Amino acid sequence: MSEKHRKRFDQLCAHARETALLAAAESALEWDERTMMPTAAAEYRAEQLTLLAGMIHKRQTAPELGEWLAELAEGPLAADLHSPEGTTILQMKHDYERDVKLPQSLVEELTRTASLGQHIWEAARPKNDFAALRPVLEKLLDLKRAEAEAVGYPETPYDALLEDYEPGELTSNVQRVLAELREALVPLVAEIAESGREPDVSILARTYPLGAQEALSKRAAAAIGYEFHRGRLDVTAHPFCTELGPHDCRITTHYDEHFLSSSLFSTLHEAGHALYDQGLPAEWYGLPPGEAASLGIHESQSRMWENMVGRSLAFWRHFFPTAQSAFPDALGDVSLESFHFAINDVRPSLIRIEADEATYNLHILLRFELEQAMLAGDLPVADLPGAWNDKYEKYLSVRPPTDSDGVMQDIHWSEGAIGYFPTYALGNLYAAQFFEQANHDLGPLDEMFARGEFQPLREWLRTHIHAHGRCYSAAELVQKITGKPLSHDPLIAHLRAKLAPLYGLN
Ligand code: ZN
Repeated sequence: MSEKHRKRFDQLCAHARETALLAAAESALEWDERTMMPTAAAEYRAEQLTLLAGMIHKRQTAPELGEWLAELAEGPLAADLHSPEGTTILQMKHDYERDVKLPQSLVEELTRTASLGQHIWEAARPKNDFAALRPVLEKLLDLKRAEAEAVGYPETPYDALLEDYEPGELTSNVQRVLAELREALVPLVAEIAESGREPDVSILARTYPLGAQEALSKRAAAAIGYEFHRGRLDVTAHPFCTELGPHDCRITTHYDEHFLSSSLFSTLHEAGHALYDQGLPAEWYGLPPGEAASLGIHESQSRMWENMVGRSLAFWRHFFPTAQSAFPDALGDVSLESFHFAINDVRPSLIRIEADEATYNLHILLRFELEQAMLAGDLPVADLPGAWNDKYEKYLSVRPPTDSDGVMQDIHWSEGAIGYFPTYALGNLYAAQFFEQANHDLGPLDEMFARGEFQPLREWLRTHIHAHGRCYSAAELVQKITGKPLSHDPLIAHLRAKLAPLYGLN
């Protein structure tokens, strides 16, 4: 390999690492904004963040970067697509070319409209005023169509938007797998509704003192392998996980004295995200081999720890005595079985973020269908609330009484995040398929969980998923690990195995 290529590659990495320093500073300010910052500081903070975002964008679209990448892509270091060097060059080239295809004016217009949309949504939702939101949604759709045309797409404009979240994935493939999921899930949810069985969910709404909740959340996160010396757990309104550097991945949660699930499962969810970030190769921080493969793969990690581990009977065989001694008044007279049934309550509901593990996917499916129809121009924004309500009735047998609890419940569309929703369902599908494979390779995992052993699963995920960063796409990763393309079967099998005994299904 020539000295020249190696030197150029080092120069490229140094440039990207410096950009990562700025991006980590941006993350630190955002973390502070959502956890600690006094409200009066909002305006100045927005100016700081805008300045940093502009600096980062400028560095990422610098003309010399394009020249280096073009030169390196022809050289020997790019020959192996899946090596860290090849991945760095080819993924950065891919991202760079996409970035420079977007006219500056369109980027600015999108940023401005998305921010405006956010503010309008915040004001309109409490007033149930969809009419106030409609013009900005229409404008955002026009801009997203322009974005798709500018960057190009293999089959349909929606592909271009999906690319931001699931690099390399095609709308047609997501349509296929989600349609199959719907075919299997709708009857399963109906069977559960007809079973006549219901858990006593009131036990989760007893009094759970906050201090003990915090201690239990920390203990659960540490038990699954979250490294507190490289992170911390704080309080926020809408829990998230963020990276502030290669050895600083922070999680957040939300405590409700009268709802235990709110803190516990959001902690496990965010810790699942953090295990992925903490498992990425630190020496490649700020470069594609040190980044997540996709949002769907990221979500698969959080959902696996939250649902497949955290809502399993085996997990609670180990943890329930600890929870009972933390909350003697609330859980002293509750059996392990009643508790496990309560945290796996399945019932159709109106609000996505409160939905259970099974019906959650139906909330996503209908959003995916609606946003494709809107982008294609087949569904005018004016008709969106009606179409939304009809789909809720069809898939979940509930009809939202208001747009606040219907079409306006999520912020995503109002801030231009179109193509984002399917990543949540993909995350569930990837999680189930990986978990099935891990159980096959290591299992039975249940027996380990019941003994409080979670490290084998964490190490398996590190080796097979985390360590690769972006060296494989999501589709390549699932094929490489499980020997099969993404399928709805493992998720349906997982849900049926857990829910059939609870609801007395065949
Ligand atoms: Zn998540």
